[in-house]
Amino acid sequence: MAVLDQLTSQQAIELENKYGAHNYHPLPVVLSRGEGVYVWDVEGKKYYDFLSAYSAVNQGHCHPKIVDAMVNQAKTLTLTSRAFYNDMLGKYEKFASELFGFDKMLPMNTGAEAVETALKLSRKWAYEVKGIAENEAQIIVCENNFHGRTTTIISFSNDPVARKNFGPFTDGFIKIEYDNLQALENALNSNKNIAAFLVEPIQGEAGVYVPSDGYLKAAKDLCVKHNVLFIADEVQTGIARTGRLLATCGDCSCVNKNCSGEPDVKADILILGKALSGGAYPVSAVLANDDIMNVIKPGNHGSTFGGNPIAAAVAIAALEVVQEENLAENSYVLGEIFRSELSSFAKENDLVKSVRGKGLLNAILINDTEESSTAWDICMKLRDNGLLAKPTHGNIIRFAPPLVMNKEQLMDCISIIKKTISEFNN
Ligand SMILES: *Cc1c(COP(=O)(O)O)cnc(C)c1O
Repeated sequence: MAVLDQLTSQQAIELENKYGAHNYHPLPVVLSRGEGVYVWDVEGKKYYDFLSAYSAVNQGHCHPKIVDAMVNQAKTLTLTSRAFYNDMLGKYEKFASELFGFDKMLPMNTGAEAVETALKLSRKWAYEVKGIAENEAQIIVCENNFHGRTTTIISFSNDPVARKNFGPFTDGFIKIEYDNLQALENALNSNKNIAAFLVEPIQGEAGVYVPSDGYLKAAKDLCVKHNVLFIADEVQTGIARTGRLLATCGDCSCVNKNCSGEPDVKADILILGKALSGGAYPVSAVLANDDIMNVIKPGNHGSTFGGNPIAAAVAIAALEVVQEENLAENSYVLGEIFRSELSSFAKENDLVKSVRGKGLLNAILINDTEESSTAWDICMKLRDNGLLAKPTHGNIIRFAPPLVMNKEQLMDCISIIKKTISEFNN
């Protein structure tokens, strides 16, 4: 067998099992092509993608504008490192900073790296601007958070599977309950050395937990009162996923007039990743204003690939697609339809306990235990019926299709989901 011979699904799965580390448990489907809201497996079967690579592919698979930008830049200049300037990075930094309303950005590659960057930035700010004594800074985080997989980030996770036997862990984190303002206030009052509060506007990996209305705004106000930085991890919620350009829209530059969110919450440090590249390339970023970002000096932080010309070209194109195709508005409108259809369905179907989410980041809660295989079995049946989704935490199924979906496709997907779950019940 030559290395690049076409494989059957079974062969591809066997190769990954034998030669790949077993750090994932994929649904058994082997994809070889994608376009817009669709993906195809190696046998040619077509599916709706309802995961979008954990919300990295908001702009749809292989978006022609993003692919063109990538190919053209790949033929011109791929990597210079930051030892030299390149003619793409500045353009990208200006475009992204203005779009999201910050003075500056710091480019990285993966979401976890951007989170690490934000943590380092907030600590340095705490020592050099706020005046906390060296090595005393604490960062408040939330229970059931997901911010990535590095050693420091798992140090403040409470997922035993992510942590077990990876210690010793990094100090300096205080964990409080999510969506609990009293807990935040208590933590802020009981410790003078708080640098920052790190929060996901919606907890995606935890199972699409949407906090109470007003939580983010009130949390931000508490941070202001205590001179603590509000860090929004929008790696999953950002780039139009929740029906707005960002889930924390400071000045809401998105065109969405239906916005029902909290338009006056603006992060001090914004973390982006995933759909920042439309899923074409690993691109992440941290944005902040000068009073914070300027504590970073040459040599303090960096990455060989961060801010490379391909990443810059791809990210500009990916963000332009979000604007040109009104993806925030589309996500908002389709999200309302999705939740209203599935909420009525949940009322007449015992297997679906509830539906929650914002925009096109949604989840259904299956009426069974976390240990049961029901949600997995439903996802297998959804696969058979041409729609790909994956359970998170045993009994929750996340539904996050590309935002380029149209209403007709969404209605088709809703009927696949209803039909699959109804059949399952019998
Ligand atoms: C996916 C994700 C990350 C980590 O991103 P990677 O690119 O996988 O390192 C961080 N935070 C949130 C909220 C995420 O959803």
